[in-house]
Amino acid sequence: MKWYKRDQHFLIDKNVLNRIVGYGKLDKSDIVLEIGAGYGNLTGEIAKKAGKVIAIEADPELAVSLHRWENVEVIIGDVLKMEFPFFNKVISNLPYSISSPVTFKLLQCKFDLGILMYQYEYAKRMVALHNSKDYSRLSIAVQYYADVKILETVPRTAFSSQPKVRSAIVEMTPRPAQYEIRDEDFFMKFINAVFSQRRKKLRNAILNNAELLGIKDIDSALKKLPADLIEKRAENLSPQELANMADILLS
Ligand code: SAM
Repeated sequence: MKWYKRDQHFLIDKNVLNRIVGYGKLDKSDIVLEIGAGYGNLTGEIAKKAGKVIAIEADPELAVSLHRWENVEVIIGDVLKMEFPFFNKVISNLPYSISSPVTFKLLQCKFDLGILMYQYEYAKRMVALHNSKDYSRLSIAVQYYADVKILETVPRTAFSSQPKVRSAIVEMTPRPAQYEIRDEDFFMKFINAVFSQRRKKLRNAILNNAELLGIKDIDSALKKLPADLIEKRAENLSPQELANMADILLS
């Protein structure tokens, strides 16, 4: 089986298709990117409302049926290996196996609104706040770039073939970051390190990852950090608190 065929869960529930398009609040000024357009069941509905749809599909056999609409530009290929043309909205029932790379690729672009279908478990981690069990590096990384919320959950029966788990429609609205970070790469490294040991106090998680974080003098590094916060676990600290600590470690 070709790699992209694993992700072929087509949305067949007309009500869900209509609601997705409704959430996009489309008009003829919109240029909509659709990732994994399949045979066009969602594409056609978007094309009725938007000025233009850019439909990306890896499977050339499916893509044949995407040439039915005048305002649909079809791009055949792997979404992870191309530059996106200009778009202002993105509406997609995403290929779940590439949820993360495709989401972070999107978040590097400037756009107004995303309406995106994910696996429900993944969506819960995207929107989670600190002090909850789904709060993770994904929550922090996504929420750094955008406001995200789950609009509805979608049962397996809405698809053919049915995925193993239920899905969720997520609204994503990019906005400027709500806190400052001195070095994004270091912050992401720090988040990865402390969430790889999320049940440990931050003090121990940093200690165990000192080498990976490039910390030479761990005792003085720990002394610089707020004493009350390093006794907490990463999962109990807000993104802003974690960002402050990453900044202090860099100073
Ligand atoms: N849009 C259709 C729908 O809503 O029913 C199909 C969605 S299906 C979940 C995901 C689609 O993404 C499949 O058609 C699959 O061939 C395509 N796909 C998988 N990996 C891809 C990739 N890396 N680049 C572009 N398309 C991909």
